[in-house]
Amino acid sequence: MTGSVSAQPDPSMIGGVPKAPFVLLPNPARLFARRAERFAALAAASPMAPYLRFLEAIARMQSDLATTSPRPAASDVERMAQARGNGMPPLDRLRFAAAPGLSAVLTDFIARCEPIDKPLAAAEALRTVREADTPSRSSMIEHVLRDTIPPEELAPHLYVTAALQVFAALAAASLDASELVPVAVGVCPACGGLPVSSLVVGFQGAEGVRYAVCSCCSTQWNEVRIKCLACGSTKGIGYREIEGGEEATVKAEVCDACESWVKILHQNKNASLDPVADDVASLGLNVLMRDSVYRPAGINPFLIGY
Ligand SMILES: [Zn+2]
Ligand SMILES: [Zn+2]
Repeated sequence: MTGSVSAQPDPSMIGGVPKAPFVLLPNPARLFARRAERFAALAAASPMAPYLRFLEAIARMQSDLATTSPRPAASDVERMAQARGNGMPPLDRLRFAAAPGLSAVLTDFIARCEPIDKPLAAAEALRTVREADTPSRSSMIEHVLRDTIPPEELAPHLYVTAALQVFAALAAASLDASELVPVAVGVCPACGGLPVSSLVVGFQGAEGVRYAVCSCCSTQWNEVRIKCLACGSTKGIGYREIEGGEEATVKAEVCDACESWVKILHQNKNASLDPVADDVASLGLNVLMRDSVYRPAGINPFLIGY
């Protein structure tokens, strides 16, 4: 088990081997608490320590928020739901913006972030979000949901992103995993979001199985081990890493068919790897890839600009 998701193992067996579940829905409070721990561990040995410690505090507040916020009511989830049966994910992330409850969650999160020890720029950004009028907040929420955050406005959007991650994870956690089906290559079957990265997991019943992780709602879904998450190609796939070669636990999976790349994290070799925290901490890989022909296909709003 990764510990941050509620596995709902399929009881069916194939040749005596348990079948890995298609999706792992998030356990929001635990997921963000573990992320905070991972940010703290990574900060201890990173030149990015100040930023990682700030994100540790953010993840801790996300965990607190997830603990105290109610799960969206069934009627709210229904309002966020798309028409089923036409190959669409059950949650329409673009409808989150108008969902009752999101505004309160964001206001709550902003208040929780006040006491966090933070750089001056982050403090100013928090004031910007706190003082933003309703249309401005709505515009920021739209930017996050549409993956169109202006790079020069990353700081205020970071808080909106963090609150939305909690809101979306709570909504995803209320879904029935058995009803989720694949919708498209590299697309979250719960909310339609793009992956932040993918994991090769090591928990019992799914050793060596790969899951893509939604950048929006944190749902994890099974994908073929060697496959481009942008175009679906299984040919022309290669790997890049900073160091460690074969043994590296964080790699860029590159695709020659569409010239894109997404990180793949080997949780089966290091169970503490986190799809968001380790993505941020392995910024060096993004810098390396920036000089390549490949374009990033993963989304991590905490790393905008790379
Ligand atoms: Zn999702
Ligand atoms: Zn591709």
